[in-house]
Amino acid sequence: RIRPEVIPAEEINVTFEDIGALDDIKESLQELVMLPLRRPDLFTGGLLKPCRGILLFGPPGTGKTMLAKAIAREAGASFINVSMSTITSKWFGEDEKNVRALFTLASKVSPTIIFVDEVDSMLGQRTRVGEHEAMRKIKNEFMSHWDGLMTKPGERILVLAATNRPFDLDEAIIRRFERRIMVGLPGVENREKILKTLLAKEKVDENLDYKELSMMTEGYTGSDLKNLCTTAAYRPVRELIQQERIKDTAKW
Ligand code: ATP
Repeated sequence: RIRPEVIPAEEINVTFEDIGALDDIKESLQELVMLPLRRPDLFTGGLLKPCRGILLFGPPGTGKTMLAKAIAREAGASFINVSMSTITSKWFGEDEKNVRALFTLASKVSPTIIFVDEVDSMLGQRTRVGEHEAMRKIKNEFMSHWDGLMTKPGERILVLAATNRPFDLDEAIIRRFERRIMVGLPGVENREKILKTLLAKEKVDENLDYKELSMMTEGYTGSDLKNLCTTAAYRPVRELIQQERIKDTAKW
């Protein structure tokens, strides 16, 4: 049986420092994730129940996956990334058993963050017409293990999920995510922070006007800004290649 990949905390290659802006979200995650995973003994029930489900929602490319990885690293938690596509492609035919194995594994390597990317495709509308029987089983199995966590206060497992389509999730699922955090498009000030973070370790023209660039990039996500910077970084390389080509042709 193929096991989902576990990334131990110390091997996670994203830190909070790599993420520009999103300060409030980082803070909320720290509060919601760190303590319950590190000190479950403080969460004795009643109002102090550990949070078992957090949903990050918002447009693609706004840093949801990065946030999930960085918080796992900070919390010293193992990171297991699952999505419907990994489950169906790798696990087809043994779906339910594998969902069970996922939770057993998560417990073994705990504290653990199970990150469900594109959660809408895995745990979306329960009664969708024509829904594949296998998908329904995966969903039910996942939910029953997840619910099981609520009754085990000492278990240090948290489900963190991301979606671009929160409206495709039904009530029952939304309710299980005790906290839902919107990761929206960055405004002008946050675009400036993201650009500064992305370029922090690069050689940059000292005349670069970050303010102007952030004003010019309205509607860009963090991922779009990253692409913009990568494209810009290629420019001198492209120019060099062009010059070498001219030199080569001159030889002929
Ligand atoms: P999707 O919904 O498509 O999975 P996502 O919201 O999970 O997107 P990420 O995968 O976290 O987005 O971000 C994509 C890439 O964009 C990151 O690898 C990173 O390079 C860049 N990026 C996004 N947001 C930020 C940010 N706030 N600071 C720095 N880089 C960012």
